[in-house]
Amino acid sequence: MSFTRLRDNFELVSKYGDSVPLYLFSDLFLHVPGYREMFSVNMRNQRDRLMEALGFAVEHANGLQEITPYLHQLARSHRKLGVQDEHYMKWCASVVNTMRRFSGNVWDEGLEREWREFLFGLTKVLVDGARQDALKRPAQWTAEVINHDRRAVDTAVLRLLVDTPFPYVPGQSAPVEVSRWPNLWRYYSMANIPRQDNTIEFHVKADGAVSAALVREIQEGDIIRLGAPIGTLTLNPDTGRNILLIAGGTGFAPIKAILEHVTRLPVPPWVSVFVGAREPDGLYDFDILRTWAAKYSWLSVGAALSDVHKPELAASGTVSEVIAGYGRWDAYDAYVCGPPAMVDSTVEILRGNGFSDNRIRLERFASKVTPSQRFVS
Ligand SMILES: Cc1cc2nc3c(=O)[nH]c(=O)nc-3n(C[C@H](O)[C@H](O)[C@H](O)COP(=O)(O)OP(=O)(O)OC[C@H]3O[C@@H](n4cnc5c(N)ncnc54)[C@H](O)[C@@H]3O)c2cc1C
Repeated sequence: MSFTRLRDNFELVSKYGDSVPLYLFSDLFLHVPGYREMFSVNMRNQRDRLMEALGFAVEHANGLQEITPYLHQLARSHRKLGVQDEHYMKWCASVVNTMRRFSGNVWDEGLEREWREFLFGLTKVLVDGARQDALKRPAQWTAEVINHDRRAVDTAVLRLLVDTPFPYVPGQSAPVEVSRWPNLWRYYSMANIPRQDNTIEFHVKADGAVSAALVREIQEGDIIRLGAPIGTLTLNPDTGRNILLIAGGTGFAPIKAILEHVTRLPVPPWVSVFVGAREPDGLYDFDILRTWAAKYSWLSVGAALSDVHKPELAASGTVSEVIAGYGRWDAYDAYVCGPPAMVDSTVEILRGNGFSDNRIRLERFASKVTPSQRFVS
């Protein structure tokens, strides 16, 4: 079936804004006992994500196979919430009810048929994804905090012992839930390559609910939950180019993991690492870089401070300004991670420097993960 009216209908309904996912979720909670408990008290983010994911799928209605990796990743992340096959079926019914409710007299049998067909195809891919994933890994992991190192007022480095092997690619991140905020999942990047002893390291900057709990409340011995890792900020060692690693604040976490990955290559390329922060305490893990730079002849490191002038410690300016000052980086691939504004300004400077998009990999530390950030490894 070719979906000719779906996209226009979704656009029309979306004009009602937040009322649409509000209606959809209340319909779902009404019809599926126990479903509400899978979500946090505040559903705002969840509603945005639902509309974003549905919109993305509608856009690809005539070629869902193109976004199968994304849909499988979505199903994989639903598993940590306890979503089962039958929930998807009920969800389809609630989507149809919602679209009907907001479509007014545009709604007719033909449109309903399109929605049902589309949702049937969509849930089939999701259910397949969840089943395939269940054959490979648990829905979630638990991890004990074995070391909590408060490096600055608002920054902590946590070492965790995961209960069972936790496979990921260096540079990826995982959803984390703390007991203080049940069902409120936030992504944090593993700052090390996978280890035999199942320990991982997170670098967290206190910014809101979950991060503040991780920095200020969590103690050694506490248990947190983890979901399946995601992310495309992973090393591509086959390009034959050198590597430019750029981090802002705790964006250093995945950059450190990538750098550790490089140390394991038989012939490492030249690597330059730049870490940016506002003030010196934002360079909370720079000592390890100095140690590695002394050990590896192929590595050079630099720091940038934007709000204070400390030439003995770092160049002055934002990390993107400092990189721009170095001239051209023609023989390099770039990996960028940090707050969205820092990533965006750095990417702009890199593009101006001649970088094409296929030479840049990035991760924005936003509260929301966009469809393009999702990835199946
Ligand atoms: C792929 C990925 C990897 C990440 N890795 C890391 C990492 O390694 N380390 C790290 O520190 N972070 C990382 N992040 C960011 C992290 O996931 C969280 O987004 C961040 O910690 C904030 O979450 P929170 O629950 O603490 O804050 P939230 O409570 O979600 O708040 C986020 C921001 O919104 C503001 N806010 C909240 N509610 C309101 C409101 N009602 N009105 C106005 N403003 C409001 C808060 O003040 C805060 O600034 C990553 C993000 C992504 C997407």
